[in-house]
Amino acid sequence: MEQHDFDLFVIGGGSGGVRAARMAAQRGARVALAEVLGTDGLGGTCVNVGCIPKKLYSYAAHYAEAFEEAAGFGWDTTGGTLDWARLKQRRAAEITRLNGIYGNLLAGSGVTRIDGFARLTGAHSVSVATLQADGSATHREFTAAHILIATGGTPFVPHFQGREHVITSNEIFDLDPFPQRLAVVGGGYIACEFASIFNGLGAKVTQLYRGEQVLRGFDDEIRHFVAGEMVKHGVDLRLGAGVVAIRKEADGLHLALEDGQTLVTDAVLYATGRVPLVKDLGLDAVGVAQGAQGEVVVDEHYRTSVPHIFAVGDVTNRVQLTPVALGEAMVVVDQLLGAAPGKAQRSMSYEYIPTAVFTHPSIGTVGLSEQAARERYGDVTIFRSEFKALRHTLSGSTERTLMKLVVDTATDRVVGLHMVGAEAGEIVQGFAVAMKAGATKAVFDSTIGIHPTAAEEFVTMREPLRR
Ligand code: FAD
Repeated sequence: MEQHDFDLFVIGGGSGGVRAARMAAQRGARVALAEVLGTDGLGGTCVNVGCIPKKLYSYAAHYAEAFEEAAGFGWDTTGGTLDWARLKQRRAAEITRLNGIYGNLLAGSGVTRIDGFARLTGAHSVSVATLQADGSATHREFTAAHILIATGGTPFVPHFQGREHVITSNEIFDLDPFPQRLAVVGGGYIACEFASIFNGLGAKVTQLYRGEQVLRGFDDEIRHFVAGEMVKHGVDLRLGAGVVAIRKEADGLHLALEDGQTLVTDAVLYATGRVPLVKDLGLDAVGVAQGAQGEVVVDEHYRTSVPHIFAVGDVTNRVQLTPVALGEAMVVVDQLLGAAPGKAQRSMSYEYIPTAVFTHPSIGTVGLSEQAARERYGDVTIFRSEFKALRHTLSGSTERTLMKLVVDTATDRVVGLHMVGAEAGEIVQGFAVAMKAGATKAVFDSTIGIHPTAAEEFVTMREPLRR
């Protein structure tokens, strides 16, 4: 490896890249990491324009409900008004703090940080362009025994008339002024989360989605249930609705809809999917194979079509979640450097990946949807419970909670667990461990519940709904 400048060169300082660089350097490898945004980009999408700021805004939005519900618990409150500028400023300060922590972690583990845009120039070489204060760029060439592509993804906005008037999830966090009326276009989890968040923060939100129901890929019952709850909370959800063109007028942005109607709004968020970030990365020149969306194609060892070049995370367009990028990064490091002392070599399983959607109310899910389980196992047994959470007996809210278990009838194994309700992600994480361990419905039944909680419902569902 000594013939190269580095043992490992990581392109991208996001979830996957930072984790791989740190772990490899801690094991004694000579590691460099290039991040185009410099310190500001450290942590990548998740820290800067994804999971973290989104969850902070979701917390902010939940206060609106808390103010409304407080009277039911005896509090004399007139509610609050949102200081959007203060929220943005406090979020930005927290993100800057996190960027700094990532920088310190890299420095502390001995990673050489290179600020700039990295491009592959060979099977073992990378060129980094760094912008100078005068607008010019310097180019530096580095060689490495191995290269890891961890450049993530970027929002995709289709072409249509007026596209220049829309924003994406990259811009929503710093929107100025606060949109009194917001149109959210899309039906995926990011669209649904922002619809819920801005509705909670006080905007009049219209969510437009072309399909017949939001959250494709999730359990059908969960999709319909959460959509209903979002509407109850105030989101004007319009299904089968598409945008033809957008025009800017004095009173706002005019959205011409496919059904001939016009929607006037202050801002339009397009959350219509993400694509791998591979522009100008030099993949073609070096011969790294790409898929239909431009994603870097990797084998089960995260190896690209060029030996010694690997890829992890969103750029491979598989499961786009931070913990997955982290897991993949650690597998690559183990492959290159061997297992950490005293530890087994890591591997990655894509089964039973738990996930949450931070809608209001939230979704927590792990394993197969009812429809996917039926396809795989044929005979499945469904347990379902829908109720008003204890808190809402006094809060005045009409919000309801849904919990659902999908059981493979032949083995009694719980193969799907889904929930819509408060803190669904917090509840489902623990159940994911049990399900990975192969827990059967009998094991669930023999588990004592924690009373009074919503979570106990998962271990007290006795009567199947259907088989
Ligand atoms: P990224 O984190 O995107 O990092 C890529 C980095 O590479 C970036 O910093 C970029 O600037 C840099 N880069 C790109 N090209 C170059 C180049 N040529 N040279 C140098 N640097 C380059 N996941 C969850 O698990 N939970 C959530 O709640 C969640 N919420 C999300 C909400 C939103 C709005 C979005 C957009 C995403 C969310 N995600 C969530 C997904 C999560 O953010 C991603 O899966 C994760 O960040 C992927 O990590 P990554 O390392 O692949 O890429």
